[in-house]
Amino acid sequence: MGTLKEAVVVVTGASRGLGKAIAEEVADGGAKVVVNYSRSKEPAEELVNQISESGGEAIAVQADVSDAEQAQKLIDQSIEQFNRVDVLINNAGINIDRTLQKLSVEDWDKVIQVDLNSAFYMVHAVLPHMTDQGGGKIINMSSFIGEAGNIGQANYSAAKAGLLGFTKTAAQELARFGITVNALCPGFIETDMVANIPEEAQQKLLKQVPLGRFGKPEEVARAVRYLIEDGDYITGQSIDINGGIYIRT
Ligand code: NAP
Repeated sequence: MGTLKEAVVVVTGASRGLGKAIAEEVADGGAKVVVNYSRSKEPAEELVNQISESGGEAIAVQADVSDAEQAQKLIDQSIEQFNRVDVLINNAGINIDRTLQKLSVEDWDKVIQVDLNSAFYMVHAVLPHMTDQGGGKIINMSSFIGEAGNIGQANYSAAKAGLLGFTKTAAQELARFGITVNALCPGFIETDMVANIPEEAQQKLLKQVPLGRFGKPEEVARAVRYLIEDGDYITGQSIDINGGIYIRT
């Protein structure tokens, strides 16, 4: 069985939302956490203080992971600080929602860059360390939208579907090094990303969720913990955490 005790976990986009909840959950299990952020310095530093005050260990590292060089530096700094990386969680993500007729090339590129290409950049940077260590775990934050598509989210759904293909290929290639690669497909979870959806649209979405509510970040974070602690024989999979919404799609 895997363990979080003393494991070094890098979480991209951990200043807010799902990444923050994941950082808290793995720190609670005894992991040393690298809290990556792009712009939210203060919240990232607050999270690091909070983890330290609870007896854990964490550092905040600024890096825009949609830039390959910065992704490399994030891994370099993690290694400098903790000497290894046991778990990489590719969580950072954005959305720029427009229907296809209004979607600009810039908005397409930006979302693909942050939501898909960053995962490759991070894996590319961490691989030599994980192979030297003799193993590791990689978890990619996809989405229910990557499975089902959604009006106004062509860029986002393409990126998230791309992550699922990437996950399956990486799992096949990296199994022989003792590295597992899995994806999570959350439905609608209570973070800033969902809070930014207009109220009326939120109410419509809620009606599509059989469990009748949006998910909580901690509910996704616990699935991450499960994969790390109990998921040694799970690879190339995606786990749906969506209140049943995909049943209806
Ligand atoms: P969120 O509350 O908007 O937080 C996004 C996080 O990503 C922030 O910490 C942000 O940091 C970071 N980030 C954005 N661009 C970055 C970049 N270029 N480099 C490094 N960090 C970057 O979003 P969330 O809801 O927690 O979503 C987290 C992940 O889950 C995303 O991949 C999202 O697509 C996925 N997801 C979310 C939902 C949902 O319902 N919430 C459902 C399915 C999947 P800064 O503030 O520093 O920019």
